[in-house]
Amino acid sequence: MSVSVVLFTSDLRVHDHPPLRAAIASADEVVPLFVVDDAVAGFAVPNRRAFLADCLTDLDASLRERGGRLIVRSGDVYAAVRQVVLECDADEVHMAAGVSGYAARREETLRRMLEAEGRRLYAHDGVITAVAPGSVTPAGSDHFSVFTPYWRHWDQQRQRTPLAAPRAVRVPPALSSDPLPQRHEVGGISPALASGGESEARRLLASWLRTGIDAYEERHDDLAGDATSRLSPHLHFGTLSPVEAVHRARLVEGAGSRAFVRQLCWRDFHHQVLAASPGASWQDYRPRNDHWRTEAASSEEIEAWKQGRTGYPVVDAAMRQLAEEGWMHNRGRLLTASFLTKTLYVDWRVGARHFLDLLVDGDVANNQLNWQWMAGTGTDTRPNRVLNPVLQGKRYDPDGSYVRRWVAELADLPGAAVHEPWKLQGLERARFDYPDPLVDLADARTRFQEARASQ
Ligand code: FAD
Repeated sequence: MSVSVVLFTSDLRVHDHPPLRAAIASADEVVPLFVVDDAVAGFAVPNRRAFLADCLTDLDASLRERGGRLIVRSGDVYAAVRQVVLECDADEVHMAAGVSGYAARREETLRRMLEAEGRRLYAHDGVITAVAPGSVTPAGSDHFSVFTPYWRHWDQQRQRTPLAAPRAVRVPPALSSDPLPQRHEVGGISPALASGGESEARRLLASWLRTGIDAYEERHDDLAGDATSRLSPHLHFGTLSPVEAVHRARLVEGAGSRAFVRQLCWRDFHHQVLAASPGASWQDYRPRNDHWRTEAASSEEIEAWKQGRTGYPVVDAAMRQLAEEGWMHNRGRLLTASFLTKTLYVDWRVGARHFLDLLVDGDVANNQLNWQWMAGTGTDTRPNRVLNPVLQGKRYDPDGSYVRRWVAELADLPGAAVHEPWKLQGLERARFDYPDPLVDLADARTRFQEARASQ
């Protein structure tokens, strides 16, 4: 009996899974393996650990429907893979090609380890991203550092047709598995955290393509409307294939579909930047010689931002959504990141760390490079733009519903007045137990502009 191992990482699905299909084609039996390796920082974050537990339970169920099951091992990924390979005398290990510095090192170490044992590692492209990093490049460089030309090239790439899920998966019967992690075992998760798993991802995608995508172009920035797909955690954990998401979205005609596919391209864009510059996970991609106020900014300022008590209602609403759901609307992410890095002039790493500690879709490529984009140290072509939180609130939450939903103290204020509670007079103002603005916006803007001009 020949055996191949499939090492699942950020690809927790059975549909459109090239490593699984290749492993099945190459051997009589297959070991679908997931290693809960505590060295993977993301597994320590309660929201992502809970979502992961859902994903693994669902993946195991899908494999069982096909006659197989998921083998889970806990501990060091290298020791676990080696152990499984030796236990079932597997010739090949198949996995998704990774993107981050950690994933690249893991792949290389596994390759060397397996080759030393006379076995082979196959790392498959087009699993984690729709277009593999490095496959679309400008002349003379290994990656695009500006989005628009990347989008033009990316959009013209021929993409493979998504693969069906396998009908049958034969797993060696004697192989043992550790128990599947369970969501209820994880403490400290956001109260309204979404459910994980491929079945949920496919339900969400189908419903989005039927009823949401058409209006995406007009409504994606509507904070209260919540009219985006909410597919980000599924793309992060790979319960949804990006190739399939792009393929199926393109089958829908219209501006909504086009705008949505463009957002999926942003995801690939950041992944190709990170793959080429792994250091951009924590170092400035384009240093601006910033002397951030991280040390000088009192910890109260940073705490007020984290807790949604800055006195700027739309910033506070978004930060409270993050705490409650482990997810935040994209417009909220933009304006809260601008507030921290430009209005408070605090190092983007402080904000990126906080987001990574809470976001269920928290992702090194998307989070760090979006933070850098907003801080002006990344790929933004207008690095000194500052988003005014009052204008952003009035524009993207015109009747104030988003703020009233998340900032209970202001729930009785009508309409757009909710964006400027400091304009209320005397007694009326005293009725609301809500902080005064943390900083004066005009002063903060001048401070930021002077700091950037002096560099
Ligand atoms: P939709 O609007 O429905 O978009 C569809 C998909 O396109 C998303 O699921 C996502 O995979 C991709 N996408 C959309 N916008 C972006 C973008 N700007 N960059 C990269 N991919 C994008 N996204 C993450 O997946 N993980 C993160 O950790 C993350 N951190 C962010 C931090 C900041 C400061 C900012 C400004 C943005 C961040 N984003 C991150 C990007 C974006 O906010 C989320 O992907 C999006 O809000 C998820 O909601 P959705 O699935 O409903 O998105």
